[in-house]
Amino acid sequence: MKTKQIRLYAVIAAIIIIFTACSPGISAANPPKVSETPPVSAQSQEPLSPSPEQNTQQAHTEAPSVAINENDLTDSSEPLIVSFIDVGQADSIFIELPNNQTMLIDAGNNADGDDVVEYVEGLGYDTIDYLVGTHPHEDHIGGLDTVIDELNVGSIYMPKVSHTTKTFEDVLVVIRDKGLKVTSARVGVVILEEPGLTISILSPASDEYDDLNNYSAVILITYNNSSFLFTGDAEDIPEDEMLEAGYNLNVDVLKVGHHGSASSSSEAFLEAVTPLYAIISVGAGNSYGHPSQSVIDRLEGENARILRTDLDGTVVISTNGDGSYAVKTSKEQ
Ligand SMILES: [Zn+2]
Repeated sequence: MKTKQIRLYAVIAAIIIIFTACSPGISAANPPKVSETPPVSAQSQEPLSPSPEQNTQQAHTEAPSVAINENDLTDSSEPLIVSFIDVGQADSIFIELPNNQTMLIDAGNNADGDDVVEYVEGLGYDTIDYLVGTHPHEDHIGGLDTVIDELNVGSIYMPKVSHTTKTFEDVLVVIRDKGLKVTSARVGVVILEEPGLTISILSPASDEYDDLNNYSAVILITYNNSSFLFTGDAEDIPEDEMLEAGYNLNVDVLKVGHHGSASSSSEAFLEAVTPLYAIISVGAGNSYGHPSQSVIDRLEGENARILRTDLDGTVVISTNGDGSYAVKTSKEQ
């Protein structure tokens, strides 16, 4: 670890010298937050599983823009910031990646699209590099059409399952109108792989689930010693599949599955995850009775600190990749 750090500092120092000597003003011309979105080399929807290699290559072809960005290299402790946006009984998670790219997992209900766009723009961004619609229920993809319409979008990931609703159709129409493509979200897809930073998809592993919730794209983000797992509305069936597949599910921050429903967050799954922080995205007084008291009990049994958007508002968790986290909430508890 130490030698790595020394080598990194040497590289950084060398780059600063080169940049100071030959290239004044490059950083001013290159603001970090609105990095140019490269043309989407999207895999078609047809091949079911774009291989991790393909996606890794895609990440590598984007690398030059990172390599010449002085801002990326002069600070080795860029934060990873995850906002669990309060969109009521729905999910929307905006992620500021340490490489200055951005990711959005879900965009709330139809009525939430503008609020999500406003949140992203309020942080100074106009681009979503990686957009995930976990599954085609309205409380996840409802606002996606507005997001895709109003922001620059790079790659889009959705499970290969359709749904006969106007909401789903609206999303497909705007994707088509903007000339974008959808990459199938399924187990084995690697969205981003850089030294110290990996974003991968752990589920769905099947295309024959009875319940649409179980098609949820489950996203794992690791940043050095920090880790996040976003489970959409995946229930106990995909949880069992992930356990059986032997993934290291022991993450620090868990987006609790299906708004805290008892059909998710099985005891075995939570024992494997043992989250330090468990975030439940849920609407106050919702008619589903979410979150379930049994899930709260199970999470407390794992000594997780529970944060809820109905009680805490928008929850922002940031880390420098060292396994420690800062938490901010928009409401005082
Ligand atoms: Zn949901």
